[in-house]
Amino acid sequence: MSVELDGNILVTGTNRGIGLDLVKMLAERTGQRSHIYACCREPEGSRAEALKELVTQYPGKITLIKLDVSNEDSVVSAVQVVSAHVGAAGLNLLINNAAVNMPERPALMSATGKQDMMLSYEINVAGPFLISKMCLPLLQKAAEIRSSDDGDNMSCRRSAIINISTLFSSIEKCPETFPMAQMVPYRTSKAALNMLTCCQAEDFKTHNILVAGLHPGWVRTDMGGEIAPLSTEESVRGMLNVMSSLSNKDSGFLLDWEGNRIPW
Ligand code: NDP
Repeated sequence: MSVELDGNILVTGTNRGIGLDLVKMLAERTGQRSHIYACCREPEGSRAEALKELVTQYPGKITLIKLDVSNEDSVVSAVQVVSAHVGAAGLNLLINNAAVNMPERPALMSATGKQDMMLSYEINVAGPFLISKMCLPLLQKAAEIRSSDDGDNMSCRRSAIINISTLFSSIEKCPETFPMAQMVPYRTSKAALNMLTCCQAEDFKTHNILVAGLHPGWVRTDMGGEIAPLSTEESVRGMLNVMSSLSNKDSGFLLDWEGNRIPW
């Protein structure tokens, strides 16, 4: 069964790439009572122009929030602002999308340093960990409010965390994918994000909060590069369809943009 996404939705890393199209398509596809909290590092800066255009295009539907996921103070301030906006309704969906792939191409193991490992872990794992932890009371509120309709059923409409991961995080798939691109800091940090996903799913199931990892496919963005086969629109359309169909059986797992389960 698929449920239309709606309610209060927070997305990180939204000034470009997949995050920008997530905001655009969520604004298009969700009803008037929905609101999108679009987070980015510099909402006032020139790098957020495309995002600001979306705010104008969808009046009253999108709020820009300043958030650097690697900075704890920034996470606290962002969640405070969101909390004041959503009030008793809470937060229905948190999409942890912001990430880095360091060092820039070609990311060979021999050209990778400690700093690349530490920064990748800070942004790709500690970031989603912190923001999810701070948003937990808001997610709990949303799950409680929709309990009368949904009982013990979990969904992205009710209350959920989606951690954007990658096929390259799969340990089982590593012999196949390693020759394509080494990307050791990125792979290891996303594998840790997968474990975070499992831990959160276990911890939060008593609150009926769904937690899943999602691989967007290989997408034409600054990170994915120009030869990637998927446009951001194709990837995001697929991921939103998958999110709409997620239920209890999917919590604690990693799926791709077409809904196929990826082995750890
Ligand atoms: P991009 O590099 O195009 O965009 C990354 C986004 O993350 C930007 O908005 C960037 O903001 C933001 N970001 C980076 N660091 C921080 C930070 N410290 N705090 C807040 N925001 C930050 O990446 P994609 O759009 O391609 O990737 C989106 C997600 O999809 C990522 O999780 C990625 O791992 C995953 N993915 C992508 C694939 C692809 O082929 N593109 C394949 C598999 C997974 P800023 O402009 O300020 O740097």
